[in-house]
Amino acid sequence: MNLTEQLIALDRQHVWHPYAAMPNPLPVFPVRSARGVRIELEDGRSLVDGISSWWTCIHGYNHPRLNQAAQQQMAQMSHVMFGGLTHRPAVDLAKKLIDITPAPLQHVFFSDSGSVAVEVAMKLAVQYWHCRDQPSKTRFLTIRNGYHGDTFAAMSACDPVNGMHHLFSGMVMQQYFADAPQVQFHEDWQEQDIASFEALLKAHSDQIAAAIFEPVVQNAGGVRFYHPQYVRRASQLCKQYNVLLILDEIATGFGRSGKLFACEYADISPDIMCVGKALSGGFISLAATLTTTHISQTFATGEAGVFMHGPTFMGNPLACAVALENIQLLESYDWQAKVGAIAQQLKTELEPCRQLNAVKDVRVLGAIGVVELTRPVNMATIQPQFVDRGVWLRPFGRLIYTMPPYIIEPDELRQVTSAIYDIVSGL
Ligand SMILES: *Cc1c(COP(=O)(O)O)cnc(C)c1O
Repeated sequence: MNLTEQLIALDRQHVWHPYAAMPNPLPVFPVRSARGVRIELEDGRSLVDGISSWWTCIHGYNHPRLNQAAQQQMAQMSHVMFGGLTHRPAVDLAKKLIDITPAPLQHVFFSDSGSVAVEVAMKLAVQYWHCRDQPSKTRFLTIRNGYHGDTFAAMSACDPVNGMHHLFSGMVMQQYFADAPQVQFHEDWQEQDIASFEALLKAHSDQIAAAIFEPVVQNAGGVRFYHPQYVRRASQLCKQYNVLLILDEIATGFGRSGKLFACEYADISPDIMCVGKALSGGFISLAATLTTTHISQTFATGEAGVFMHGPTFMGNPLACAVALENIQLLESYDWQAKVGAIAQQLKTELEPCRQLNAVKDVRVLGAIGVVELTRPVNMATIQPQFVDRGVWLRPFGRLIYTMPPYIIEPDELRQVTSAIYDIVSGL
């Protein structure tokens, strides 16, 4: 066995991977390094990353500005606790997040992963109603095909079928699920689409603390693009029925959908917003939950007086410094033109897939392109095919999707789209 084979053997024996069996029967590819849009494998092959390491590295890997921000921060401190202490990286990042998100969002709670940011949002909503003397409002309204993370509260708001709730029945909170929106992003709005959401609010608003969903783009639950008017109507209905609105922008945030935040398509502002994934440009784990002043102030009047949550690594200085640099980097060039150009190229080059036998639908919004198949892919065989074509993608279920780093060049993106076309042709 050479060193790489030894690495793979040890990995197979001892290391869990996401959504994997142990030992893992699927191939894993050892990575030596990554730079720009490329992942370099231990065996010398070089892959164009077509999915930005799960929506995160919007400016590619090993970016000199992010590296420099990390090195400068490391020379000061990588970490201090946040209880009773504060520091410039966290304060500056909070200020930046407040400046770029909808105006009513004024307060930032940092955490270390998207799932925790969602847990925090849900706990905030429940404790808010407790403070308002409506302690029966503990449940959540969400929409089918959603994804909000893998911890228990977050999981309760994930699609009950995709999220495999039955495995944890009795432990996962029962939430209210509105039908998934059917009117697509570019279609004409039909008021009927919101009927199921409204009916659930009408019947159960005395039980519901908040509605929680991903605005406009449903991500890991199916990569679907739905009508902004759904988001606008849902926001109005939440106000009408006295229910808070939590928007999960963990995947959509920081330009991916074509707007800085997808809620801008609907021109609305939530009570609580979650961000993560691209926040630190894929450099290091960081997430945040933002709230309005009204939400935050309510806690002062409640029994506890404080919000009962505080991760050990909250506001990690290294992560905050890199995230701030990542946002400044995004602001330093015309990212909207770049995402628009990626969208245009994805439309042109993925559209021919629609003619293929195995294909049910092709859709593009912002820097997200999806080829939906009629049947689930076989991961054991399709992943190595993409690797052989020098492309890194991670299809799941019936979906082959790409959301490349914004820095991708047209010829690199063509390598991704042509691999998709050719491989799907052979299915
Ligand atoms: C990825 C994701 C999460 C969970 O984030 P983790 O960092 O994996 O915990 C939550 N919501 C949405 C919309 C996501 O895409």
